Amino acid sequence: SPQKDGSVIMELRGKELIRGEPDASSFPSGGIRATFEARGYTVWDITSPAFIYDNGDTKTLCIPTAFCGYNGEALDQKTPLLRSMEAISRQAVRICRLFGDNLTQRVTTSVGPEQEYFIVDRETYLKRKDLIFTGRTLFGAMPPKGQEMEDHYFGAIKERVSNYMKDLDIELWKLGIPAKTEHNEAAPAQHELAPIYNTTNVATDENMLVMNVMKKVALRHGLVCLLHEKPFAGVNGSGKHNNWSLTTDTGHNLLEPGRDPQKNRMFLLVLAAMMKAVDEHAGLLRMSAANPGNDHRLGANEAPPAIISMFLGDQLTAVVDHIIRGSDESVPSASIMRVGVSTLPFIRRDATDRNRTSPFAFTGNKFEFRMVPSSGCIADANTVLNTIAAEAFQAFADELEKAEDFEFALNALIRREMTAHQRIIFNGNGYTDEWVAEATRRGLPNLRSMVDAVPELVKPASIALFAHQGVFTEKELRARADVSFELYAKTINIEALTMIDMAGKDIVPAVAEYGGKLAWSANQAMQAGMDVSVQREMLARVNVLLRQTSDALADLRAKQEKMAALSGQEQARYAHDVICPAMEVLRAPVDHLEMIVDGRLWPMPTYGDLLFNV
Ligand code: ADP
Ligand code: MG
Repeated sequence: SPQKDGSVIMELRGKELIRGEPDASSFPSGGIRATFEARGYTVWDITSPAFIYDNGDTKTLCIPTAFCGYNGEALDQKTPLLRSMEAISRQAVRICRLFGDNLTQRVTTSVGPEQEYFIVDRETYLKRKDLIFTGRTLFGAMPPKGQEMEDHYFGAIKERVSNYMKDLDIELWKLGIPAKTEHNEAAPAQHELAPIYNTTNVATDENMLVMNVMKKVALRHGLVCLLHEKPFAGVNGSGKHNNWSLTTDTGHNLLEPGRDPQKNRMFLLVLAAMMKAVDEHAGLLRMSAANPGNDHRLGANEAPPAIISMFLGDQLTAVVDHIIRGSDESVPSASIMRVGVSTLPFIRRDATDRNRTSPFAFTGNKFEFRMVPSSGCIADANTVLNTIAAEAFQAFADELEKAEDFEFALNALIRREMTAHQRIIFNGNGYTDEWVAEATRRGLPNLRSMVDAVPELVKPASIALFAHQGVFTEKELRARADVSFELYAKTINIEALTMIDMAGKDIVPAVAEYGGKLAWSANQAMQAGMDVSVQREMLARVNVLLRQTSDALADLRAKQEKMAALSGQEQARYAHDVICPAMEVLRAPVDHLEMIVDGRLWPMPTYGDLLFNV
């Protein structure tokens, strides 16, 4: 700022930190903010620590902020998350009071998000337009070795990767993020990072930073970090495991079953509330994990299925069963495990085994929501979780506060609600077709794609729920549905254009060149009086596939142009129903060609180069 005496000072007032005023129209607002009414505000969120972001020569003071429009509409994901935390705290405190807890003033939801990612070599990455523009490969034949040996998870971490992980930990610790666990994941080149859990709000901000720092540090090591949900077809995709729990400000975790869950009435009430919440709003929970990339995981025969169900493990399921049947027979608790070697210690078995196929699993003292997309923001999932739990707590508190005989009413309510919502519990293998059939019989929704899931946001039940808990207004929900459809259509459009570019400019010319070489050498051989039947066969195969590629390319081009003329939900539906299948049709002959065309002519690195070259 220039001063009166002509000098200049660098100034920054505290006020400017508390409230900023960026342009709210340069941001997908779903029509809430038009260009001509652009005012929006950022407001300091004091519940999440400020930090200094070190970006080479610049150091930036970053202040976690909420972002809303001129009339207070939430434009961000933080505001609704904070609203949902207040909602659940209000209702959970009432539950505590029912059990004579008069100390608790606040109940906080905590999250520890496990983050999966892929690491590839940067030079190799830079030769793949699809990875650069879309974050995933749009073409690519399976290499001779994939993940069939199941040797990556327990395999040694490669030196280049462990150097990266070490550096990543240090950068995260500098930002105050307690990154703790680093390990290999199921697929080749796939890894995972888990931080120590924090409140849902802070954990969300930290996870956004984790993703950012992961990418930044990778570049330093000549690597690229891929956060896409499905970078490689036919290879395991990435997600986030959202470990969620509820703790009072006196330090009591409401999801802690204790030594004898059967007698822990408060825990059973909370469990009944979670069963009710997840069963009644399964579609909404599914929507909270929807993004275009996740469509390639959920419902596509990999972890986890698109159907929401809840895993409780043997012991708790038996407890729930006994309650429903009205039996007071006691359920055996966790046992000692003997391995049969005298020098190995006896270990206590966990009360629940792990079920990797379950989208929503109880894991001892928390629920693990496993559908969350690896590249997404976990605020959406936690906003929904907090809100649906708050709604169930509220219904229970309303009823039980009025009860004349609390014990009696409590037991009756737990039994009634567990019976009403037992269909949500499933402990079996979620990948099987039998489960899909069984879930349909149970009436559980199976929303296979993001386009199917978005309408859940604006169903009358969702609008009523969010309004009741003060988390979203109807206007905000409608805006979010619009933004989601738009995001979906734009993503698919970029993918289609990238395929068109790669096929038209790189693949077809390379295949044509190979065909030319084959023809030339066949001619030469024929003149020398040789048998050229092999060359002829190869040329014929290449020509057929080239024809198919060229036709599919023309078809995708035409459809992409058609999509450009549409908008909103209709455009998103078209992208899903018409463009995605057309992309598959183009991919098939190209992947086939990749296996037969001279490797020296193939215009880009293969899956083998990407997955096994770090
Ligand atoms: P897994 O065995 O599922 O791979 P990890 O140990 O990798 O588990 O990660 C578990 C995550 O759950 C960690 O981020 C951890 O901080 C978090 N977590 C542990 N206890 C709680 C809790 N009570 N509430 C929320 N998150 C928790
Ligand atoms: Mg996990």
